[in-house]
Amino acid sequence: MPAEPPTTPPLPALPKVELHCHLDGIIDPPMTRDLLAAGVALPFTEEELAGRHPVTDMDSFLKWYDVGGRLDGSIVPFFPIIAAHIGRLKAQGVVYTEIMIAGSEIPDDPAVRLEQIGAFRRHVDRLEEGKIQVEFLMAVGKGKSPDRIRRLADRALSLHQAGLICGFCLAGLEQGFPVRPYREVLAELREAGLGIAIHAGEWAGPESVWEALENGCPHRIGHGTHAFADPRLIKHLAEHRIHLEMCPTSNHRTGSIARLADHPVRRAWEAGVPFSIATDDPGIFRNTIAGEYRLLADTFGFTPDDLLAVTRAGLAARFQPTLRGPAAALADRESPSGPAACRHPGISIRMPWDEGGTGCLKPNRSSP
Ligand SMILES: [Zn+2]
Repeated sequence: MPAEPPTTPPLPALPKVELHCHLDGIIDPPMTRDLLAAGVALPFTEEELAGRHPVTDMDSFLKWYDVGGRLDGSIVPFFPIIAAHIGRLKAQGVVYTEIMIAGSEIPDDPAVRLEQIGAFRRHVDRLEEGKIQVEFLMAVGKGKSPDRIRRLADRALSLHQAGLICGFCLAGLEQGFPVRPYREVLAELREAGLGIAIHAGEWAGPESVWEALENGCPHRIGHGTHAFADPRLIKHLAEHRIHLEMCPTSNHRTGSIARLADHPVRRAWEAGVPFSIATDDPGIFRNTIAGEYRLLADTFGFTPDDLLAVTRAGLAARFQPTLRGPAAALADRESPSGPAACRHPGISIRMPWDEGGTGCLKPNRSSP
């Protein structure tokens, strides 16, 4: 814990990157009010959604979806929601973000799928206005039948081929929901050039992260919070530059950690594990990406240079090879020290767009 008061400059000025945000967890009561006032049709009122707040544990997290989940099943309601979200991100200095679209929001019919997600992409292109780069990933919960897994993978492949998504995420519960049944499909997606991210170490311990690494060969781990109980795993993540998408406020609100101060973000920094920070579901947790950066400064003692290194680490772990706007300018500038500049020279991060980046770094839990 820092003894000195934080000296972080006004956070909107600091460029930020967010790699872990679910499209279906963005809407909050004020956004609901504004959209309804603008004439947008939504399947709930501001009061109904506000009645599901605050989200303070797993139970209230799941209950939020009784109302917020009414948006599921189609991409159409998310056109005005993404517009409001991008406006907020720009105001917070976010230069690059990757947002997860749930498989259930992606049409099954191939022609309708390309038409709707293509229209969504063009809508977002217009909203970027040269100030932010917004990319999309497809997110799928575990526990699906083999036939369903195959169909979802085909959706991801077609969207990637059309240039509409750059990655694939396995999300959801961990205990009793292994990555193993997705092994072949994830290898195929990885070979096709999609970035792979797997939620692990959020609801379960290090063994869940090992299982994800062994079976999914992900470029990134969503959360990874409980990976830090295993020193060998920390070493593995650091050496192989496996990026963690850390979500401190989310972990605290869902009960994944008991106290915010317990979050291992500082341990990740000190161990040289590459990571970025994210809100996860800003509408559910009522958090902001600027607030997460502020938390790192105020609670975990990160300096402005440290925070910039976190931003750079996020940019280095992106799934979209081509950068535009301020993200491109930031990537061109010289990299300072910190997790983004590898603390283990000789072992470089391998992204899907690097030469040889589709290869899999097989973990070996028993190696010293
Ligand atoms: Zn998530």
